Amino acid sequence: MNPLKHRVKQLGNQLEEIAQRGLDRHVRLGVTGISGAGKTAFITSLVNQLLHGESQLLPAWQVMEQQRFLGARIARQPDLTLQPFDYTGALDCLQQTPPSWPPSTRTISEIRLALRYLPEKGLAGQIGRPVTLYLDIIDYPGEWLLDLPLLQQSFDQWSDAIWQQLQRPAWKTQTQSWCARVAALSSDETDGVIAEVARDYASLLQTLKRECGASLLQPGRALLPGELAGAPVLEWFPLPPAMRSSLAEDSPLIQRLTERYSAYCDQVVKPFFRHYFARLDRQVVLVDCLTALNQGRDQVEQLSHTLQALSHSFHYGPGSTLGRLFRPKIDRVLFAATKADHVTVDQHHNLLQLMHNLMKGSRRQPRYFGTRMETLVLSAINATRQGQVERSGSTVAVISGQSLDGESCVRFPGEVPTQLPERQFWQQQGFRFRPFSPPVCEAGSALPHMRLDYALQFLLGDKMR
Ligand code: GDP
Repeated sequence: MNPLKHRVKQLGNQLEEIAQRGLDRHVRLGVTGISGAGKTAFITSLVNQLLHGESQLLPAWQVMEQQRFLGARIARQPDLTLQPFDYTGALDCLQQTPPSWPPSTRTISEIRLALRYLPEKGLAGQIGRPVTLYLDIIDYPGEWLLDLPLLQQSFDQWSDAIWQQLQRPAWKTQTQSWCARVAALSSDETDGVIAEVARDYASLLQTLKRECGASLLQPGRALLPGELAGAPVLEWFPLPPAMRSSLAEDSPLIQRLTERYSAYCDQVVKPFFRHYFARLDRQVVLVDCLTALNQGRDQVEQLSHTLQALSHSFHYGPGSTLGRLFRPKIDRVLFAATKADHVTVDQHHNLLQLMHNLMKGSRRQPRYFGTRMETLVLSAINATRQGQVERSGSTVAVISGQSLDGESCVRFPGEVPTQLPERQFWQQQGFRFRPFSPPVCEAGSALPHMRLDYALQFLLGDKMR
């Protein structure tokens, strides 16, 4: 090549490189929700849509609909200290015979995707060259977000609040023997006894979650310890107010628990928020309203408190703990009511209204603090088909699929309330939004879903213009 042509080409490349560098080409997306909300299913399906989706399956995602999306691949994970999100393992579960739901989220994990697309406008668009957007998806338990208020409380304040919660009449059967055991501890218990009571406290929280549908439980790592399973930093628990006032402040028991509480805040909660949460650009919070409705009024109330506490994590206004300590930069949050395929489509509006009502005022606040919040009803992986049956001369909407024991079934799941029903409703009738086996999924084709394209448009649309 003659030197002049070579120089022009070089300049062209440099210009393009500058243009590329100026483009927004990296998004860190957090996916969270209380365990069982559907994080694993959501991420598996999202990755699957990005790898195999077509425009007719993702019509609301503009870059796809405008035929500018060129494809995606799984790229090397950037943070080598994190567990990789096991997309292949999850897909294997869904594609085996019979299919099974993949194992749920137990800890933080990550997966990186490289998305190739043609920009719509701007310098790179004029050049007409494809651009790569790196999407890091970070999966983490919502229980860990609920630890945020600990940073503003002393051990005594935390203990008082939790002890009061443990006395709830509805939880008494589960909590009373553990509470009695703590009340009988002496001031100089050994580390061995403290560790044992802490383990029993963690089991108690699991029982409250399983049997009472409790979701606002602390500390989050007692429920899902991740890499900290068995570590002394988790060996603490609340003490009753009467016991704290009867024991001297320098009693070994109080000192040990206070020390560990502080270590948990400094060495577990703060690093999580600083290293992971504060580096997220976008966030999805998954919410399973239907299971709470099945369980009862107390459980729906708990979900409401939990949703408000979770959305509080996205308020970074002046004076907020998060704003002060970690400077988060999440500018879009999607609250998504999951498992919409458990109900008929005509109930989706009600499900959305119910989630809005459970979130109460917390839905509007982030906008005030500069974060855009959106809500959506979706199904990450459709396990049912929508249909209609004739009954007594009228048409009734139904869903059909396979029950968890593999039987084909047609169900009329009933109406979703738009707000928290009266207690009486559960005594008379209650709700039965029952789970289904996953659909039969073929290798190489996209998983069936509802509204993941809307989620993609909200989360990535502006980054792929
Ligand atoms: P995680 O704990 O948040 O990771 O929750 P999972 O993703 O493991 O979901 C828990 C369970 O909810 C799964 O095993 C499925 O039974 C069910 N589930 C999750 N997402 C969907 C969905 O989109 N449709 C249906 N029908 N069930 C779902």
